[in-house]
Amino acid sequence: MDPGVIASLLQHPLTSAVVVLDPHGRPLAANSAAQALGLPATLALYVEQLADNRERLRREGGMVACVLPSGSGQWDGWLRGVRDEHGELIAFTLSIPEPAGAVASRWEIGLDSAEHGLWDWDIAADIVYRSERWKRMLGYDDQSLPGNLAALSELMHPEDHPRVSAAVHAHLAGETDSYTAEFRLRQRDGEWRWILDRGRVVSRTADGRPLRMLGTHTDIHEHKLLEQQLREQQAQLEEAQRIASMGSWSWDCRRDRLWLSDDFIGQLALPEPPPRRARRVLQQFGAEARATLRNAWRRLRKFGEPLHFELELGVAGQSPQHLRVWAQPVFDGDGILQRLVGQVQNVTEQRQTDALIRWRTELLNRVSALGRIGGCEIEVDTRRMQWTEECYRIHGLRKEPITLEQALSLYTQDSRDTFEAALMRIADGGLPEQLELCFYRNSGQRVWVQVLIELDRREGLPPRFVVLFRDISREREANERIELLAHYDRLTGLPNRFLLRERAEEAMAEARERGQTLAMLLIDLDGFKSINDSFGHATGDTLLKLASTRLHQQLRNSDLFGRFSDDEFVVVLRDLAEPEDAGHVARKLLAALTEPLRKDHITLKVSASIGIALQAPELEDFDNLLRASDAAMYAAKESGRNTFHYYSQDVLLRAQRRLELEHALHGALDREEFSLVYQPLVPTAGESAPAIEALLRWHRPGHGFCSPAEFIPIAEECGEIVRLGDWVLGEACRQAVLWDEMGLQFSRIAVNVSAVQLRDRGFAERVLEICRANGWLPQRLELELTESALIRDSEALRRCFDLFEQNGVLLAVDDFGTGFSNLHYLNRFPVQRLKIDRSFVQGMLADANTAEVTQAIVHLGHALGMQVVAEGVETVQEDALLRQQGCDEIQGYFYSRPLAPRDLAQWLREAEVGGRLGQRLTLATG
Ligand code: C2E
Ligand code: CA
Ligand code: CA
Repeated sequence: MDPGVIASLLQHPLTSAVVVLDPHGRPLAANSAAQALGLPATLALYVEQLADNRERLRREGGMVACVLPSGSGQWDGWLRGVRDEHGELIAFTLSIPEPAGAVASRWEIGLDSAEHGLWDWDIAADIVYRSERWKRMLGYDDQSLPGNLAALSELMHPEDHPRVSAAVHAHLAGETDSYTAEFRLRQRDGEWRWILDRGRVVSRTADGRPLRMLGTHTDIHEHKLLEQQLREQQAQLEEAQRIASMGSWSWDCRRDRLWLSDDFIGQLALPEPPPRRARRVLQQFGAEARATLRNAWRRLRKFGEPLHFELELGVAGQSPQHLRVWAQPVFDGDGILQRLVGQVQNVTEQRQTDALIRWRTELLNRVSALGRIGGCEIEVDTRRMQWTEECYRIHGLRKEPITLEQALSLYTQDSRDTFEAALMRIADGGLPEQLELCFYRNSGQRVWVQVLIELDRREGLPPRFVVLFRDISREREANERIELLAHYDRLTGLPNRFLLRERAEEAMAEARERGQTLAMLLIDLDGFKSINDSFGHATGDTLLKLASTRLHQQLRNSDLFGRFSDDEFVVVLRDLAEPEDAGHVARKLLAALTEPLRKDHITLKVSASIGIALQAPELEDFDNLLRASDAAMYAAKESGRNTFHYYSQDVLLRAQRRLELEHALHGALDREEFSLVYQPLVPTAGESAPAIEALLRWHRPGHGFCSPAEFIPIAEECGEIVRLGDWVLGEACRQAVLWDEMGLQFSRIAVNVSAVQLRDRGFAERVLEICRANGWLPQRLELELTESALIRDSEALRRCFDLFEQNGVLLAVDDFGTGFSNLHYLNRFPVQRLKIDRSFVQGMLADANTAEVTQAIVHLGHALGMQVVAEGVETVQEDALLRQQGCDEIQGYFYSRPLAPRDLAQWLREAEVGGRLGQRLTLATG
């Protein structure tokens, strides 16, 4: 053979050992690596053994793997045929890639272990050799698998492919020391099998290109399945623990390391994760829990046996949690306690539920005894019945066995049918039912029972109806009575608001259908509350009865009449010819009350305010109509009471305004929205000093000033006036003291007081206290009261005025002449002054009659020893006439408008200079 050819054949990469063999397998030449291994000699001994391989190569070409013994084990080599240009086989080469060290041992391990399949990949030629084991592993034979890489790729699970490919490339590129991948391969029978693939490039060209890679395939299918099973089991365990509120724990007692499963930590809802050291954890527990744990620890050490105990874990700010703990010691080889492992269960909820169930059962027993509740069980299939003692008692039977049929025979036919039908429904899966059934005791007494039926399908027991009985005869009777009471007012016997509503709704529906005009009248007795306060509720009731009778007499049979609330009555008029007719009826009703009401020695005069609303498309339902008549009633009250008012858009707006103000009044005092202005009362007799009246001002941010004439009645209504009035008194006194200290001359300060304030308990005491607190003399304070505040006579009011009299507090009757004609109160109460109402002053110049009234008031006042003041004086003529009529003081824009404190002080100063000279002060501006 040509030495040149031989030389070229030997030019393998340096690391491979190469031997050239002649066509009979005898060594011809070897490179240095092969010589170093003594390979030619070995091969010379193996000529025979390799004959088959040579024969195969001769036939098929390619290369054949062969194994040669070596000193330490064996070498793996590749036998190839060498052909000349005519295809004639002229020699063989045997090469052993990287024959020394790692590779050899890899092969050794690989072959030793039956678990591994081996592969050898000639990268340049893309020829893959696979060991028998490899093929068997997947059920293939030589023929069924082409010996290239593509064949493997085709077997590989598509999901795994990219990952494996990346790992191979990384290794080929020299980025990793070895290649490892796990993937699934398709077995011959079509199933997937998990393979662990490990390999490594074992030879590279001088410039580092990989030439050959060797590796093993390990069947890890079982392992993988096991792994998966374990994972599933773990997940199941965790889920089970979670459901049972359980967790695992372990404690390495030597190193004091505590571990708790995350789920369990989550359940405990601790403010922060528990420390890893058991000693630290211990510190967080209460004394009792600590003792339990120490005790358990002691027992574990002493007996070395598993144990369990309960623990109450208190976390600050939370209710205590109850834990059940299982612990098991783990010993090392020398029998020394190493670790504790165990489970822990949060039984808080269970404990609570247990306690709740106990409590409920007890409660139920007690209630059934107390409530005389009988219980009974009926087997669904057999209708066998068992019942409790209480059942016998309810049915009035002696305690001897009884069948369901016997028991039912006591019941009325109706009740029996109802009961049987309910049983059927419930047996068919219906919900529990509650019935009211009736039976007759043997004594003939009729009894009503409430019966509750449920189906009990507890496991292990035949399905049964559970029936509870309760005697409700008394309740039924009471209900019947209540039914009656519920619809009629007890005091007047009139329909009450419920019946009224029912009937009114019927009437409204009828009117709508027939196109008739319907009106609702809401009648409110004026000042009824104060009558109740002054004369007591018995008198109030009498009055109501009398008034309702009077009203009733004015109505036709077809009209609906009922008592709506304390002092409110409702009339519904049907089929009116004209809307005005409602007004006529209202007038008749008011007229009926003009005559005083008399009962025994009591004589009382009442009036009423009536609101009228006509049914209209926008007032379709009862509530709307009622609201409308209510608003109209308020309008009637506002226009001076004892009158009626129709509902209109205007009334609605006013009602809304009222509501708005009432709302705004709330807290207005705290928001400091109130202030006082002051108006002088100028004496007509030259020498004396003027008096000052304090007038309240309410400035609503964003709305401007709101007139006291508008908001005072609302404040009275909602009670706010009491607090507000106290504030006015205090503020006026404080201001008066200031002026007084400044040396300003004025006789007294007058403050307006509402009837509601006067009725408030302890009012007089508070007035005196306010004076004292501010350092103002009660003798220089005047309270302006309206006639309406004075007509009532009560013990409380008398005491109040006594106190004022004793302390010299002055009283004036404001708006005199507009109120009640009965002037008896002037004798009863210590009044010093009358203030002629503004309306008289304004009318006196135009109307001689009015001028006579003012004159009469002056005479009356003087005759009673009182002073008389005229208010609202705007012109010099009015001033002159009133002076001529003998008025003692004059108040009005003619002298001054109400002024801010500083302006009034200025006014007083100038009055002192000018007033004595009889000059008229016209300082008042706008
Ligand atoms: P009143 O007590 O009769 O007060 C007199 C009212 O007439 C004041 O109206 C005053 O500004 C006004 N006035 C005074 N001189 C003239 C005049 O020459 N011509 C005209 N046309 N009017 C004049 P104001 O301040 O709006 O008070 C209205 C009503 O509000 C008061 O009538 C009083 O009943 C009530 N009021 C005012 N302040 C208070 C208070 O602090 N407490 C209570 N309970 N009511 C108050
Ligand atoms: Ca006044
Ligand atoms: Ca007045």
